[in-house]
Amino acid sequence: MSKIGVTLIGLGPMGQAMVRKLLANDHAVTVWNRTASRADALVAEGATRAADVGAALAANNVVILSLTDYQAMYDILGTATDALAGKVVVNLSSDTPARTREAATWLAGHGAELLTGGVMVPAELVGEEGAYVFYSGSRAIFDKYAPVLGVIGRPDYVGEDIALAQLYYQAQLDIFLTSLSAYLHATALLNSAGVSAESFRPYAEDNFRSMGMYLGEAAKQIDTGKHPGDLASVVMMGATADHIVGASEDAGIDTGLPLAVKAHYDRAIEAGHGADSWTSLIERIKRP
Ligand code: NDP
Repeated sequence: MSKIGVTLIGLGPMGQAMVRKLLANDHAVTVWNRTASRADALVAEGATRAADVGAALAANNVVILSLTDYQAMYDILGTATDALAGKVVVNLSSDTPARTREAATWLAGHGAELLTGGVMVPAELVGEEGAYVFYSGSRAIFDKYAPVLGVIGRPDYVGEDIALAQLYYQAQLDIFLTSLSAYLHATALLNSAGVSAESFRPYAEDNFRSMGMYLGEAAKQIDTGKHPGDLASVVMMGATADHIVGASEDAGIDTGLPLAVKAHYDRAIEAGHGADSWTSLIERIKRP
C-alpha cells in the first residue's frame, strides 16, 4: 500500500527539512510557498509544486503548515477558503494559545479541522534521533496521521485542548531562552574579570547537566503545594540572588535578569514564606 501524500506549505528552513524527510520516507509531497523559488530545489528532489494555494489544498487531505506565525496562515489559506472543506490542517507554526484557538474556530468555519504542533528541535535535526513534536487537538485525527507525522520526529500527543501543544512548546522555549540569557549574563560577569567564555565553559556545562536533578523533588513539591525548605530555603537562596545583583552592579553589567530573579525571592519573603523551599516562588509567579 502506498504511503499517504502530504501537502506542505511554508518552505523556510523548517519546512524544507520536513519535506526532505517526508520524501526520504516515500511520501508524495506537494509544496507551496509565497516565495516560489524556495521550492525549486525540493521539486528537483521529487516534490510536486502546486500552482496556487487552492491546488496545494486540493492535492491531499492533510496539509502541514510551517510558517512564521498564525497570521501567515490567514494570509495564505484566506485566498482559497473554498478548498478547505474536509481538510486536516496540521499547523506547526509558533504563536500564542489564544491565536491558536481562534485559528481552530476559523478553520472549523470553513469545514477544516486543526491539529497543532510544536517542533522541539532545530531544522537540521528534524526527523533525526531524539527529535520530537508536541501535538494537541482531536485524538482520532492525531492517531490517524501519527505514522506520517512520526517522520518529522516522535509525535507526542498532549491533549484535546487545541492550544496545549503550543503551550508545551512555549514552556520549553521559556526554559531554553531564559537559560541562554542566564548563561550569557553569567559569562559577562566573568568576562568583567578577564575570564574567557572558554575557561568558564566546563563549569557552565556541568551546571546545565546537573539542573535536571532538582526537578523530581521540585515537581513533587509544586504538585502537592507543600514546600518544606529544609535544604534550600527562600531566605538562603534570596541572599544569593541579592549577591548576584550586587556583583553585577560592581561589574557594571546589565542587572535586569538578576533583579527579576531577586524580585521573586523578595516577594516570597514579604509574603511570609522565607523558611519555605525555593519551589514556593511559584505561588508568587502565579499571582504577580
Ligand atoms: P521562517 O520564518 O524562515 O519561514 C517561515 C515561512 O513562513 C516561509 O515559508 C515564509 O514564506 C512564510 N511566511 C511568513 N509570513 C508569511 C506571510 N505573511 N504570508 C505567506 N507566507 C509567509 O521560519 P522557519 O522555517 O525557521 O520556522 C517555521 C516555524 O517553525 C516557526 O513557527 C518557528 O517558530 C518554528 N520552529 C523553527 C525552528 C527552527 O530551527 N527554524 C525550530 C522549532 C520551531 P517566504 O519564504 O515567502 O518568506
